[in-house]
Amino acid sequence: MTKVISAKNSKPGVVQDAQLVSEQFFRSSGLAADFAAEARLGIYVHVPFCPHICPYCDFVKTAKFSRADVSGYFSALEKQYDSLIAEIPESLTTVTVYLGGGTPSLFPAAYYRPLVDKIRKRFVIEEFTIESNPFSNSERAFADWVDLGVNRITLGAQSLNPAVLSYLGRQHNSKQILANLNAARSAGLNQVQVDLIFGLKELVGQRNLRDEITELAGNGATGVSCYLLTIEESTAFAKESTATDDTVVNEYLTLIETCQALGFVQFETSNFSRNPPIHNRLYWYGLPYLGLGTGAHGLMPATSSTPFGTRYRVGELSQRKVPGDDHLPFASDSEMLFVINSSEEMRDREAMLQELLFTLLRTQDGIPLAWLEAVYEPARLARLWADARIRKACDAGYFQVENRHLRLSPAEKLRGDSWALLLISCLHASH
Ligand code: SF4
Repeated sequence: MTKVISAKNSKPGVVQDAQLVSEQFFRSSGLAADFAAEARLGIYVHVPFCPHICPYCDFVKTAKFSRADVSGYFSALEKQYDSLIAEIPESLTTVTVYLGGGTPSLFPAAYYRPLVDKIRKRFVIEEFTIESNPFSNSERAFADWVDLGVNRITLGAQSLNPAVLSYLGRQHNSKQILANLNAARSAGLNQVQVDLIFGLKELVGQRNLRDEITELAGNGATGVSCYLLTIEESTAFAKESTATDDTVVNEYLTLIETCQALGFVQFETSNFSRNPPIHNRLYWYGLPYLGLGTGAHGLMPATSSTPFGTRYRVGELSQRKVPGDDHLPFASDSEMLFVINSSEEMRDREAMLQELLFTLLRTQDGIPLAWLEAVYEPARLARLWADARIRKACDAGYFQVENRHLRLSPAEKLRGDSWALLLISCLHASH
């Protein structure tokens, strides 16, 4: 069912470069010091089924499916796992598992058990997250997730405000959100992240983000992930607009202050928690992860011929005919849903470095200077530190150099991509 991943243009002789993106390197730079095991793989599983389609959502998902579609999909996931795992080196013995979607919590834990049992036969599961929708959960479900091995949930609440929930087309209410938090806590889950959306043009004045986050924390949330609403062409929100830049900045500052007061660490631009998870940091540190299921992305570990690993995407999707709903061809053309598309170009050193400048800058610790010094020649670094825009940003406190890490101030993380582009223009310009 899957194509074997192959990388073109293999260049012998650059294998050592792989060490610059290895976990050991980040560990020695202090970024992964809290990871319990020495080496790990992330496993992301995409479950594209939803009880309804939210008008702003651009994820790969559908609300039109049958029981047979679901069981066929879960069997195909296992087959995809078998074929991809055969390419994973034996030295990787620990995994983090993340069930995302879509709405993975739409199905009982028993649906996931065969795949999870397979994973457990070969790996120790260090962290196990499920995305859960307040609309689809019952109290019993949380105990079943815990029994399956889940130790972290992310709850797709989006808001506690009824007008905001209605504007976003969500089918749940604030009572269900709080009941879910209580049920998660009673089941013994002590990592409960709640997703929120901000930056809405409508209803901004009616919403009190500070009160919402405080109430969530008071009911057991251990962190919040706050995403800025983005308007995507292929969704029912295509003609909507977002809040003004000033409003977004104000909301973001409120978010930061509220989370700081609650002891939620800003471990990434949009993510705040008392216990920052490991799985998400694998993405930001450029470490390998398998993506299973249609719409998933993955990064295969480095080999001697692909020193920076190989990125791939799962599934060939046709254009959306109805805004937001992918109408996935489960029965008629299901092979296309699981086909592996690996990049034609080998992921090279330049691409890897640029990606990491973007993603590391989003994180709490930013970019270790030891890493910059290991990967860039002194002349390029000298050019970076001498650049007037960088000096000005350091003087203004936007960039901070502390404990040999270059990081953005909490508020500037909102403009992280622009700052990353500036770093890239200084470090990667040819002179
Ligand atoms: S936001 Fe709505 S449509 Fe999108 S994945 Fe979640 S439940 Fe499904």
